[in-house]
Amino acid sequence: MDVSAPVILKHPLVIPHRILMGPGPSNSSPRVLHAVGQTVLGHMHPEVFQAMDEIKEGIRYVFQTNNELTLAVSGAGHAGMEAVLSNLLERGDKVLVAISGIWGNRAADMARRYGAVAKEILTETENNFSLAQLEHAIQKEKPKLLFIVQGDSSTGVYQPLEGLGDICHRYNCLLAVDTVASLGGVPFYADRWKIDAVYTGSQKVLGSPPGLSPISFSPRAQKVIFERKTPVAVFYWDMTILGQQWNCFNNVRPYHHTVCSNLIFGLREGLAIIAEEGLEHVIKRHQECAQRLYKGLGSLGLELLVEEEHKRLPTVTTIVVPKDVDWKEVVGYAMRTYSVEISGGLGPTVGKVFRIGLMGYNATPERVDLVLKVLKEALEYARSART
Ligand code: PMP
Repeated sequence: MDVSAPVILKHPLVIPHRILMGPGPSNSSPRVLHAVGQTVLGHMHPEVFQAMDEIKEGIRYVFQTNNELTLAVSGAGHAGMEAVLSNLLERGDKVLVAISGIWGNRAADMARRYGAVAKEILTETENNFSLAQLEHAIQKEKPKLLFIVQGDSSTGVYQPLEGLGDICHRYNCLLAVDTVASLGGVPFYADRWKIDAVYTGSQKVLGSPPGLSPISFSPRAQKVIFERKTPVAVFYWDMTILGQQWNCFNNVRPYHHTVCSNLIFGLREGLAIIAEEGLEHVIKRHQECAQRLYKGLGSLGLELLVEEEHKRLPTVTTIVVPKDVDWKEVVGYAMRTYSVEISGGLGPTVGKVFRIGLMGYNATPERVDLVLKVLKEALEYARSART
């Protein structure tokens, strides 16, 4: 061999147990992990097709939609973002991106790579957009598509969407929503709210490992995709073929790519757990856990970045880093001492906040109490480290 076998690979793999209380991924339940650990099956085997069909039903339930074109893209949340933009936009099309944190910036970057013209509307870090602001921007820019994030995990801000679909359609604009960090933690009604494209991630409230991105397109968006003048720029995201592989239109199921059977099994179980608990209850549980967290953080004398409670995302809470601590000491202590992940900020909030996630399997009062205890101790440690 020209290159010899790496010595490091001769050691067994060791994975520590960690409690993931950051903005995602969250821990998967033992039931999901068991499903993921089953034998690998072929992507054209009937058992995998069956699980894919069941996933489609589960995705329609969590997005509250009857959309035909509903499936899970192979890839993390970014894959959902790429798939929405690359399918709905053609070279020269205009997209309006509502930027409330890092995700809007990413979407604008992607759209430009597909040759679209991306216009931006911005809000302050701790605030969401009003419908009037968005309508004004749509009126001015006349975009083909509005891209907006329901729950910005980089800031902890929640964006209400009710009424936005009507506004967009009045101006002949499609509405695309990122629900990666919010789905299952707050209500979401794709059909009722007239949303044309939506995606999420498998690794947050849905409680399965990262690697699949549930996605759904309205009939209006589906028509736009099928009537494109040019093919979707990336074969891997092309919904006209992926939709067939996922049996959305007919029973052809051509081979598009090798779907990971084990991620399919995991997502199937993650969705089944939500269906068994009931989506209303899942949302209520996340909201109650967030309330418990806010109360505990208040008792610790900590300030939240998003002051107005109705603008807070229950799944990701952003806590202002007190002036007398180094945030890295706090995060490092929590991980070293308790194997608990608490995250620092991201994008506009780097160095300014801690981010605590309460998602899926980790959205329980016990986990809230644990993260509060760990944070309290970690803050004490960081303060003593300074003196
Ligand atoms: N959008 C939002 C709101 C997110 O929180 C994330 C991930 N934290 C993403 C998109 C990207 O997802 P992924 O890391 O799974 O690609």
